[in-house]
Amino acid sequence: MVGGGQLARMTHEAGIPLGIRFKLLSDTPQDSAAQVVSDVVIGDYRDLETLRAFAQGCDVVTFDHEHVPAEHLRALEADGVVIRPGVEALLHAQDKGVMRERLRAAGVPCPRHRIVTDPTDVARFAEEGHGFPVVLKTVRGGYDGKGVWVVRDAADAADPFRAGVPVLAEEMVDFSRELAANVVRSPHGQAVAYPVVESIQVDGVCDTVIAPAPGLSGELSAQAQELALRIASELGVVGHLAVELFETRDGRLLVNELAMRPHNSGHWSQDGAVTSQFANHVRAVLDLPLGDPRPRATWTVMTNVLGGDFPDMYGAYLHCMARDPGLKIHMYGKDVKPGRKVGHVNTYGDDLADVRERGRHAADYLRGTITE
Ligand code: ADP
Repeated sequence: MVGGGQLARMTHEAGIPLGIRFKLLSDTPQDSAAQVVSDVVIGDYRDLETLRAFAQGCDVVTFDHEHVPAEHLRALEADGVVIRPGVEALLHAQDKGVMRERLRAAGVPCPRHRIVTDPTDVARFAEEGHGFPVVLKTVRGGYDGKGVWVVRDAADAADPFRAGVPVLAEEMVDFSRELAANVVRSPHGQAVAYPVVESIQVDGVCDTVIAPAPGLSGELSAQAQELALRIASELGVVGHLAVELFETRDGRLLVNELAMRPHNSGHWSQDGAVTSQFANHVRAVLDLPLGDPRPRATWTVMTNVLGGDFPDMYGAYLHCMARDPGLKIHMYGKDVKPGRKVGHVNTYGDDLADVRERGRHAADYLRGTITE
């Protein structure tokens, strides 16, 4: 796997019971996955020769992030390296402009959008459509809300153009909530769909994921799953695909974003599904039969643990574990910095309010924002 973040750490963990030999390309030995994988190459994923040397002896190469340059992926594929998902699919997770155009052509409902060239063009986009506010996004390099701006007029629209990356303008969607439809597809074309989840963002960062999305009608849930399966098949995705969706106030679904790797909206599945997203990603990229995605509990809630002002989170384990023996803690071994995702907790049970409260309490206690 290329990339040493927490997704690689948890993918490696899922491969252990299957006896999978896992090799990692990581920026530094301190990265989350590099701390736990024995076969680590330290190097720069932006360098083709590093990638070539790394890929030697790998049956298949997969990714913890979407930032490996497409021309390098093409060169590796030309060398005969098996890359999953392949570059033609990955392009749509690398570039929001490419993704929007492809989905539009496939008839997939998306927010109204177009590439804009400067602040005056943003004003034109607003006039042509829904007016301000307009959402601006750099087409590449964004994550956790970085690279996304909500602008109220043209004078407010200069910042996104400073990076020198194309800028995508989108209508500001009046959504009632955000959902994610997670599916996994294998090279054979087998696919499985996880229950559709609700994802709650705070300051552009995922905070809580509820599986399944409370109160979602059977009809919308099936629509979301079908949409995700169709996108996976049309784009030729292999591995885990997260389709982030907006549920609009008038009951429609619009696609926001695609991720072709394990995703934060699927972390609940580690403790809440028969087969986790990580285990199914491993199976898919190795072209093994996929595992059952069905839930094991009525409700599973994933609550992200963000870094707070206290560098030592482990001191909080005593209280959290004693208070809630059913709590599942997943920490990434990352240095604690304020606002940084350093772990998550999963809780599950039959009473959603209780399951949410237990997750919230543990995340806040680990972060140090509450003390009892
Ligand atoms: P990132 O790649 O940083 O995750 P996203 O495109 O997913 O960026 O946007 C981050 C968040 O910004 C979304 O989760 C959503 O809350 C909000 N957002 C993005 N696009 C729109 C839009 N067109 N209308 C309203 N809110 C949006």
